[in-house]
Amino acid sequence: MSHLDLGDGVLYPRGGMFTLIEAVEKLARDAGVAVRTGADVVAIETEPVRSEHGGVRGLVAGRIPGSRPRARVSGVQLADGEVIPADVVVSGADRFHTETELLAPGLADHPAASWERRGPGISALLVMAGVRGELPELPHHSLFFTHDWPQNFADVLGDGPGSPVADLQVPLPASLYVSRTSATDTATSDTPAAPAGHENIFVLVPFPADERLGANGASQERLEALADAYLEQVGAWAGIPDLVGRVVTRRVVGPAHFHQDLHAWRGTALGMEHTLRQSAMMRLGNRSRRVDGLFHVGGGTIPGVGLPMCVISAELVAKQLLGETSSRPLPTPLRPGFLDASRRRTRA
Ligand SMILES: Cc1cc2nc3c(=O)[nH]c(=O)nc-3n(C[C@H](O)[C@H](O)[C@H](O)COP(=O)(O)OP(=O)(O)OC[C@H]3O[C@@H](n4cnc5c(N)ncnc54)[C@H](O)[C@@H]3O)c2cc1C
Repeated sequence: MSHLDLGDGVLYPRGGMFTLIEAVEKLARDAGVAVRTGADVVAIETEPVRSEHGGVRGLVAGRIPGSRPRARVSGVQLADGEVIPADVVVSGADRFHTETELLAPGLADHPAASWERRGPGISALLVMAGVRGELPELPHHSLFFTHDWPQNFADVLGDGPGSPVADLQVPLPASLYVSRTSATDTATSDTPAAPAGHENIFVLVPFPADERLGANGASQERLEALADAYLEQVGAWAGIPDLVGRVVTRRVVGPAHFHQDLHAWRGTALGMEHTLRQSAMMRLGNRSRRVDGLFHVGGGTIPGVGLPMCVISAELVAKQLLGETSSRPLPTPLRPGFLDASRRRTRA
């Protein structure tokens, strides 16, 4: 992270991160993909795998876990009851949610109890604010660090992986990141981030992974008060007069939002913590051992969290589906005939 931040610099797509999503959507639609949004999946549908002798394979007590799939995917069920049939299901949802809520009990590679040994990454308090007047004191990207670095980590993470949630504390003052997107997407640009005479800022405060934070009215009020405190901290540290008083609109999002709206395990913003035993090839695999045809992509699988990692996870699954076994990245754009050749290899 530090090398990227300080050596290569931080990149920002004009128009904001959502333009990346739109670009991927366009590529997919151009390739003939039907994209459906707002479709809440409530179950991954499966059917039992029958053995050559007609029995149901793998439901025998004492089988070696993961030796053979117990079932194969047949589709997904949406919240409105619609079932979409499918030969292959690729889940990009939170891994805990997929394993413990979307799969039938007994089909999870990583059931709920096994998550007690795992440590969550940090969550975040996000303050998205529209501010009256200009903010020349802030460049596009700013990182602010507390003097008491160990205490700040201890507050947010406890004393190690898997620390009880009761040991986590809201940090104040906090190390935090501030993005002034209107420094780049100015009011006169094609993609203004704020109207003329205003600025748009985004404050990211690393926060405890505690899904109760913001879960009810009283807790959300506490987060709003903390948001005031963090804006005051930014104003004081960057020398901005009356930053809090100049906020004309704002939204504050916390761990409960990640938990309730995105189904994120423990309300974390980053999935499992990137400790050595939860990173790279030691992160959870991207192919289900118990359910044939079920794959995983995103931050909850190999290699890990962050947009580049998540895109690599998708490429690893695409290679498996294509039967491509090389350790090289897929050629881009795909060579003519590559897909057909890969599919022939899969059939063989
Ligand atoms: C505040 C913040 C700042 C970050 N900054 C950076 C950064 O600067 N650089 C970087 O590389 N990474 C950054 N990250 C990390 C990066 O955003 C994540 O690692 C990445 O987005 C995870 O992608 P994903 O596809 O696994 O999950 P998500 O992006 O969370 O996508 C999962 C999707 O699945 C949907 N879903 C969940 N359950 C269901 C269901 N049952 N049915 C249907 N849909 C469902 C969710 O609604 C969501 O849209 C940041 C993350 C946060 C929160």
